[in-house]
Amino acid sequence: MNLQGLPQVSVPLPWQAQAWAHLQEQISRQQLPHALLFAGPAGVGKERLALALARYLLCYQPVAGHNCGECRACRYSQSGSHGDFRWLQPEGSSKVIRIEQVREAVAFVYRTAGFGARKVVVLTPAERMSNSAANALLKGLEEPSEDTHLILVAQRLQGMPATVRSRCQLVKLPLPPGDQCIPWLQQVTGDEASATELLELAGGVPLQAEQLYNDGGAEPLREQRKLLGDLARGKVNVPLVAARLGQQDLAQTLRDIALFLHVYLCRQEQAGLRRARPLFQLLDRMQALQVAIAAGSNPNPQLALESVLISFADGFGVMRSGANMRSSSQEIAS
Ligand SMILES: [Zn+2]
Repeated sequence: MNLQGLPQVSVPLPWQAQAWAHLQEQISRQQLPHALLFAGPAGVGKERLALALARYLLCYQPVAGHNCGECRACRYSQSGSHGDFRWLQPEGSSKVIRIEQVREAVAFVYRTAGFGARKVVVLTPAERMSNSAANALLKGLEEPSEDTHLILVAQRLQGMPATVRSRCQLVKLPLPPGDQCIPWLQQVTGDEASATELLELAGGVPLQAEQLYNDGGAEPLREQRKLLGDLARGKVNVPLVAARLGQQDLAQTLRDIALFLHVYLCRQEQAGLRRARPLFQLLDRMQALQVAIAAGSNPNPQLALESVLISFADGFGVMRSGANMRSSSQEIAS
């Protein structure tokens, strides 16, 4: 997340209202835990909530349940350079949060607050800490100084050391229902019809829908879906699809293919699910690959993509060879 030039006031997203109210209640009772863990799938706005909370905690005079945007603390935190605020994420080309970053943050925690009463450290994504970084962080979690709040943001809890998890209060941020996303997305797109289409193309993930809009709308994804649909029906071959999809980032392409498979498999009836076994196995394999990439592994993008697409085409070939071939190929998402 880019912290330069933030809007003056950071507010939680509409579907985070309940979690936000709970956090505020804990703050007003002075019972907010020193370590929080915001966990949920990608694209639900975990980092935005972490930022809103961080700025709220730092603000001298919060207004109407969020940071005021005008006090000295807010002006500093607007440029991402507040003296009492650290935002840790992988830097430069690194895919992990390094031990040096965590050591610096822990040292910062033990210094007294410079501007106001509190200090805040946000660490995202927390599952991308190296083991040594996690150990350094544990030191900070064991003896938290009174005025310090640590907010960890994670997409996959299983990737995090249990020793870190157990020291944090878990705040679950699941995928919100569509009716909570559409009015918000409508403010971005300008009309309800395109908001609804983008949310569907994004598999119901609101920030991904917003990203699609910023990337040029529904058109590129609609084309990609058609291409995968054609591959599933055996109408085009793997090299052609690999050449077209290979132009974008591998991690993003894997997410798009996984989303396509999820939507398709959700539509399958029981009889179809037995034949869908290779597709489920492919999803497992892709998930392992995504985890490896997130942890810093760097496979050859073209070979990895082609291998996935070959299994994809084979899997759908098995589906088509089933007894009710016509009906199942009609169900293939277009
Ligand atoms: Zn303020």
